[in-house]
Amino acid sequence: MSAQAVIDSLEFAHTGQRMQGEVKVAQLTRLADSLFDAGGSLRFSLAGGDDAQRRPRLNLTVEGEINLRCQRCLGGLVFPVAVESSLLVLTDKAGGETAEIDDLDGIPADPHTEVRVLIEDEVLLAIPIAPRHPEGQCSAAVKSTQDSAASPFAALAKLKRN
Ligand SMILES: [Zn+2]
Repeated sequence: MSAQAVIDSLEFAHTGQRMQGEVKVAQLTRLADSLFDAGGSLRFSLAGGDDAQRRPRLNLTVEGEINLRCQRCLGGLVFPVAVESSLLVLTDKAGGETAEIDDLDGIPADPHTEVRVLIEDEVLLAIPIAPRHPEGQCSAAVKSTQDSAASPFAALAKLKRN
């Protein structure tokens, strides 16, 4: 099944539907600013069901690798994605209790829920705000003794962090 699929989130949960497939990183356009390149794809699976309190949920897993841009050297940085989210499908009826469950991930009940958008949201939450190579593996750290923090790249990286 393609990540281009559109589902009815509430019905998908209530009827316990399942789907799995792959989504190209290039299709996750809101990730673009964080990426070094948009190659590769991520595997996903989506399973509907009711939880112990009989609330509709979508369980989403996303796995794979993406190439983030190191904020220090602006080089590529392989980041393993391993997302496991249990999304509560929020109906108008459940609106009153939303305040009590705001520690949980929720999505609106929507007959036109794009699977790609769900995946994009979860991956965005999973990636670091300012990804960087570990100390000693970043080419900027090696160079920094010569051109210090005055390089335009370092200044840009600092801007992005703030
Ligand atoms: Zn780096």
